[in-house]
Amino acid sequence: MGPIGALGIACGHGRMPVTAHAYRCLYDEYPKHPEAAVMVTVLQAYQFALDPTPRKRGSLASHAGAALFAYNWGLELVTIRLEQRRAGQDVQVPWTLAELRREWNRAKHDVAPWWAENSKEAYNSGLDALARALKNWSDSRNGLRKGRPIGFPRRKKKRRARVACRFTTGAVRVLPDRKHVQLPRIGVVKTHESTRKLARRLEQGTARILAATITRRADRWYVSFTVEVQRTISTSNGRAGVVGVDVGVRHLAVLSTGQTIPNPRPLERSQRKLRRLNRQLARRKPSSRRRSRTRRRLARVHARAANLRRDGLHTLTTSLATQHGTVVVEQLNVAGLVRNRRLARAIADTGMGELRRLLGYKTGWYGCRLVVADRFFPSSKTCSGCGWVKAKLTLAERTFCCETCGLVMDRDLNAARNLAKLVELIVAAGSGPEALNARGADRKSQRAGQVAVKREAGTEHHSGQTGTVQPQG
Ligand SMILES: [Zn+2]
Repeated sequence: MGPIGALGIACGHGRMPVTAHAYRCLYDEYPKHPEAAVMVTVLQAYQFALDPTPRKRGSLASHAGAALFAYNWGLELVTIRLEQRRAGQDVQVPWTLAELRREWNRAKHDVAPWWAENSKEAYNSGLDALARALKNWSDSRNGLRKGRPIGFPRRKKKRRARVACRFTTGAVRVLPDRKHVQLPRIGVVKTHESTRKLARRLEQGTARILAATITRRADRWYVSFTVEVQRTISTSNGRAGVVGVDVGVRHLAVLSTGQTIPNPRPLERSQRKLRRLNRQLARRKPSSRRRSRTRRRLARVHARAANLRRDGLHTLTTSLATQHGTVVVEQLNVAGLVRNRRLARAIADTGMGELRRLLGYKTGWYGCRLVVADRFFPSSKTCSGCGWVKAKLTLAERTFCCETCGLVMDRDLNAARNLAKLVELIVAAGSGPEALNARGADRKSQRAGQVAVKREAGTEHHSGQTGTVQPQG
């Protein structure tokens, strides 16, 4: 998700994806509750925009190109060897990173006599991506991987592929002046933003850089450090309130408190600009200089929209996790929704999946509880006043009208209220907040055959403690 790789937390609560932007690292705002604080090691990403000289820019591109070259070279080798084996020949098919690297080191003098121009990490980066892709494919075939079947890795095209290269060894450093970073072979590169958020932690000894990834998005280069961070995580943020969040299409979110967070819809706002550029692109002659210029402009508008959207989501999720004791959200089948063509853009735009992901780790950091209601919990169809359930509610009906108690309320607000009430009902029914929060096997709690709550992994910090949500009623 997003250009920054989702990382996992390294302590007890494994699966939780964690990402942070340097400019959004809100450690200083973190509530101080030393008595209820737990030290955990988390993996975090710190990303900085780079400001390279033309020469460094060339070097960055060369490394990313080398990674791509190694990937495609390795894929071709594997394809050829597989064919040879199918034809009955006794050949070794390199499959793991170590095997691919051995083959590369044997062949590089012939296939890439210029190999010494780039760090060996560049080729390693491409081969590593290939080894992962091959593993994913074979795991998927052997039923070891969840989700939809994965196709055999395909050749990466220069125009389409993500331009990136990962460094895991060598001189990867943040310089003490907090304005430069050092990368293997590429050397010292200036950053646009100050690296102090990371530098401070490195100086304090609470962070350790594990890897650095360089990426290019719309003409701008970024470096993203994978960092092992010692983080003090509080078990409580000192707040008792419960807030239900309905993430919708019309608004970014509606809270059960009645607050409506407007939809930034950055893509929609820049729609005219995008439409104009898209028309322009269609008129340009293929592979002309002007076409590539329009392409670059278009990419920049998209990148800006993505940045605005991410910023809005970060602000919202931080405030949710620090201002409320419990946040209740709905489980959304984002993959399923995006397939609906009419809603596709709006939903992709608001980035609902991203909201859930950000809440996943931020609630953990700030000592807030995250409860995820089951996908089949009828939050929109239920009356938040009396509990009556409407048989059918179309997407076009923006107002909820209860036929039993006469309640008339905004559809999204009604849904948010129901989500908040869900927690109150569970707490009232006797299972403490710990149970809601606890790790363990998923068990759905059934109330009147309809309500189900799934506790969320990653909001619990005591490894080893297990529990489940108690059945209701
Ligand atoms: Zn009612």
